[in-house]
Parts: sequence; C-alpha cells; structure tokens
Amino acid sequence: MEFSSGLLENAVREMSQLPGIGKRTALRLVLHLLRQPAGQTERLAHALCSLREEVKYCSNCHNISDGDLCEICANPKRDGSLVCVVEDIRDVMAIENTSQYQGHYHVLGGKISPMDGVGPNNLNISSLVEKVKEGKVKEIIFALSSTMEGDTTNFYIYRQIEAYGVATSTIARGIAVGDELEYADEITLGRSILNRIPFESSLKR
Ligand SMILES: [Zn+2]
Repeated sequence: MEFSSGLLENAVREMSQLPGIGKRTALRLVLHLLRQPAGQTERLAHALCSLREEVKYCSNCHNISDGDLCEICANPKRDGSLVCVVEDIRDVMAIENTSQYQGHYHVLGGKISPMDGVGPNNLNISSLVEKVKEGKVKEIIFALSSTMEGDTTNFYIYRQIEAYGVATSTIARGIAVGDELEYADEITLGRSILNRIPFESSLKR
C-alpha cells in the first residue's frame, strides 16, 4: 500500500495491529475518523488510554473491575461458595446475560496451550486452588470451551483440587464442540449452567 502521507501510514499501521483488522479495513477506519469531528478521535484515544492506565482486576476473581472487588464479588446476594471457571471476561458477560447464575466466577485469563507457550503458571490457577484449600468453595463449575486446550485446562485444575473434597461439574454441552461460550445463545447457555453434570462423568465419555 502506497501512502501519500507518513501520518496516514503511521495511523493505518497502528490500527492494523488489532486482531481481524487488515490494512484495507484500517485505512477505511482511519479515513472515517478523519471525516468525523476531531472530538470523536479524542474521546476514542482518551477512552483507550484511561482503560490501560486505570484498569484494575478484581482481587477475588480476576474479572476487570473499577475497584478492588468487582461488582459480582462485592454483591452480598451472590453465592461465593459456587465458582464458575471461565477463560476470560467475555465468558463472564455471556453467562451474566443468561441471568441464570448467582455464584462467583474465576477468570483464568486463557487456557493451557503449550503450542502458544501458555502454561499453568501463566494463568490465574494458583489463586483458584488457594480458594479451594481455604475451604471457601463448595462447587467448581468448569465453563471453558470444549476444545483440546479447554479440556486440558479443566483436567489440570481438577487434578489440583480433587484432594480437597470440593464438588466439580461441567456445563452440559448443549453447545457444540469447539463453539466459544461468547457465541452460544443465551437460552442454551443458561440451560447448560442449570443442567450441569458432574465433571467426573464428563471424563468417561
Ligand atoms: Zn470479582
């Protein structure tokens, strides 16, 4: 792509670093911003910079939060003895949208994936095991996507906690293998949480 302006080229290059944004889309977005009032670009830049500077993670569940505890963990009506293990905040949002779950979450921040250099120590696993050891948890619900990495991660965590006598379950798979949670429809996902099955029986499939 030939640019008549170094400023334009720079903006397009930065924009195209985002996932799913190729050079052409980046150019379209940058030109769009140029046609809008300058205030719009300023608000966008400001929102992104303040997110990076001020973002906090909940000290209990690692969800993105404005304070030390996220709104879910700080809510006394939620049941902290029930912990749903998810990959990232999009899964929390998807499950919250179903209005079928009143427990807490634990956001791992990814899945074990040796191919991508992600091991158990790169994820929020030890804090989950600590929570279980402290006896605060009655049931762990695994809600990772049913990919090989998701299964590996579930099993790794299961082995870490099985000695502590905590119940483990997995969301019933009305969801097709490989589907990401965030794309599952709310009714199916809500039903999956209510009809969750013991994790041990999911291993014998
Ligand atoms: Zn939290």
